[in-house]
Amino acid sequence: MKIPREILGTVGQCIYCRATQKPLQTEHIVPYGLNGPWELLEASCMECAKITSAFESDVLRNMLLAARTRLHFPTRHKHNRPERFSLTIKRRGREETIQVPLKVHFTAMMLPIFALPAGLDQRRYKKGIDLVGMVTIQVGSPPAQQVAKSLGTKTLAVSVTYQPVAFARLLAKIAYGFTVAVYGLNTIREAYVLPSIMGKSDDVGRWVGCSTNNSLAPSNDLHKIELSSINGEIHCNVRLFARFNAPEYSVIVGHVSEHSGTECGPPIHSKI
Ligand SMILES: [Zn+2]
Repeated sequence: MKIPREILGTVGQCIYCRATQKPLQTEHIVPYGLNGPWELLEASCMECAKITSAFESDVLRNMLLAARTRLHFPTRHKHNRPERFSLTIKRRGREETIQVPLKVHFTAMMLPIFALPAGLDQRRYKKGIDLVGMVTIQVGSPPAQQVAKSLGTKTLAVSVTYQPVAFARLLAKIAYGFTVAVYGLNTIREAYVLPSIMGKSDDVGRWVGCSTNNSLAPSNDLHKIELSSINGEIHCNVRLFARFNAPEYSVIVGHVSEHSGTECGPPIHSKI
C-alpha cells in the first residue's frame, strides 16, 4: 500500500554539495522503498544521489527486503523482487537453508541497537558505529511455531547481511533531510553528519546512535521523526517502523544559526 506523498518544500539546490545546476532530483526524506511520504523537490544532484542511493540500497535490498515485500511497500525494481525468501532450519539433525514463498515464510526485521552517539558521552570512539545488539521484530507473518511445524522443524533462523554503517548513514540522511525541510538549507551553519553521509569520513557513530530517553512512543504510525534544538544544535529522533515497536534512534545533526534556547517541534508521523 502506498501512502500519499507530502511535499515539504522545493530547495533548488543540492542539499549535500549545494550545486545549483539542473537536473536536481527529488529527495525522499525516508526512502520511497520504506513508504516514506515526505519529499523535498529539486534537492539532490545526480552525483550525490549516486552516493546516497548506494547505502540506501544496501539497507532496502538486503536488510529489509522480506519485510518490505511482506508489507507491500513500493519498489522501483519490481522484477528484482524475489518470489522466495530464505530460512535456515534444522531437520533430522542437519542445518539447511531453504527458499520458501512468502506465505509460509517467517518474516522478521533485524534492527541494530547502537550505543549512544559518541558525541553525547565521553567514551573513546574511533570510527564506524558501535553495535551493541540486535532486535528481531516479526512482521505480519504466521507465528514462528506454525511456520516451523509446517516445515517439519523445531528451529528456525532468519539471517540478513548488511552493513550497520549503511543503516546509520541512512538514519543520518533522514535526520539531515528533515532538518533542511524544517529550518531551510541556508540556516544550517554546520552539518556534522554530512561528511559521513557523503562517505568522506567514517565517523557516523559520533552523531548517530540509540537514544536512552525514547521520546517517540510507539503508535499506529509507520514512521515518526522529531526535531529539537538546544541553543541551535539540532537533535533528531527517528523511529522507523514505530508501529512495530522498532528501536528509536537519535541523530545529532549539526548547528543552525539564529536559534537559541530550547525548542521542540511537533513530531511528524506517517500513517498508512
Ligand atoms: Zn550534490
